[in-house]
Amino acid sequence: MTNTITMPQVRGRLSEGRSLADLTWLRVGGPADWLFQPADVADLADFLRALPDDMPVFPMGVGSNLIVRDGGLRAVVIRLGRGFNGIEVDGTRVTAGAAALDAHVARKSAEAGVDLTFLRTIPGAIGGAVRMNAGCYGAYVADHFVEAQAVTRAGEVVTLTADDLNFRYRQTDLPEGWVLTQATFEGGEGEPDALASRMEEQLAKRDATQPTKDRTAGSTFRNPAGFSSTGRADDVHDLKAWKLIDDAGMRGARVGGAQMSEKHSNFLINTGEATAEDLESLGEEVRKRVFQSSGIELHWEIMRVGEKS
Ligand SMILES: Cc1cc2nc3c(=O)[nH]c(=O)nc-3n(C[C@H](O)[C@H](O)[C@H](O)COP(=O)(O)OP(=O)(O)OC[C@H]3O[C@@H](n4cnc5c(N)ncnc54)[C@H](O)[C@@H]3O)c2cc1C
Repeated sequence: MTNTITMPQVRGRLSEGRSLADLTWLRVGGPADWLFQPADVADLADFLRALPDDMPVFPMGVGSNLIVRDGGLRAVVIRLGRGFNGIEVDGTRVTAGAAALDAHVARKSAEAGVDLTFLRTIPGAIGGAVRMNAGCYGAYVADHFVEAQAVTRAGEVVTLTADDLNFRYRQTDLPEGWVLTQATFEGGEGEPDALASRMEEQLAKRDATQPTKDRTAGSTFRNPAGFSSTGRADDVHDLKAWKLIDDAGMRGARVGGAQMSEKHSNFLINTGEATAEDLESLGEEVRKRVFQSSGIELHWEIMRVGEKS
C-alpha cells in the first residue's frame, strides 16, 4: 500500500494509510493510500500541480452517498474542511464553500430570506451536492446553480458553468480528479419564518418515512424511469424502486450486518457490524431478485468506490 513516491509539501494535513470508515455515513471501508485535507484553495492547487500525473485523486464530501469498499482506495482522497465552509448571502445569491453542509446553507439562506430550502434535508456537503446534482421535493441543484469554482487535476483554478457540468439526474460531467471548492446559487425570495416552517415540515416528513437515524447512504437504487403499463406514449412514468424491492420480498432482507430497511425498503442500512462487502452483496442480491420477479434492472444510486479486500 505504501507509495514510494515523494508527496508534495503541504500546509494542510496529509495522512498516509488513513481509514475512511469513520468519514462515511455507512461507517464502512478500508484506508485511502493518502488523505489530504488542504488548508485553502492555493494549498490544494499547489498540491495537485506537484502530484505525479498517474496518481489517482478522489474528492470526498461527507460520504453520505458512498460505499467505500473494504480494501480501501488506491488514491489520494481529498477532503475539504475548515477553509472551505464559508457561506455568503448577497441579495438572492448564495455562495458556499464546497465543505459547507447543505443543511447549513439552507438555514443561513432562509434566515436571509432566500429560498434554498430543498437543501435542508440532504445530509451532504455542497461539493457532493453539485457533483451529484442533489435534489428533493421537486428541486435540484441544477435549478438554482449559477457557477462553481474547481481545481483541476493539473492544479488550475477554474470557473464552471451549468453547460460545463451538464446536470442530469444525480450526475454531472465533472472530470475525474477535479475538486469543487465553492458554488454560487440563486434562490427565490421568501419570508424567513415561512422558509423555516417549510424546512421543519420537510424534516418531519423525512423522519416519518425514512430511516434517518440509521447508518445509510440515502436511496440505494434509482427509480427506474420511462415505463408504461399500457404501451401508450402518454402513460410513461417512473417506477418506484422501493415497490419493486417489496414485490421481490426483499424488505428487511439481511446479509451479515447489512439490511434493507423495514421502514423504507430502498434504504440499505449498516445495523452495526456490516462490512462494505455485506452491504454491496445485499444490494446485488436485491438487484437479482427484483430482476427475477419483475424483469427490471435496478441501477445503483449509491456510489461504490475502492477495492474489495
Ligand atoms: C439519509 C439520507 C438521505 C438522502 N437523501 C437525499 C436526497 O433527498 N436527495 C439527494 O440528492 N441525495 C440524498 N442523499 C444522498 C447524498 O446525501 C447526496 O448525494 C449528497 O449530495 C452527497 O454529498 P456528500 O458530501 O456526502 O458527497 P460524497 O458522498 O462524499 O460523495 C459523492 C460524490 O460527490 C463527489 N464529491 C464530493 N465532494 C466533492 C468535491 N468537493 N469536488 C468534487 N467532487 C466531490 C465524490 O467524489 C463522489 O463522487 C441522501 C443520503 C442520506 C444518507
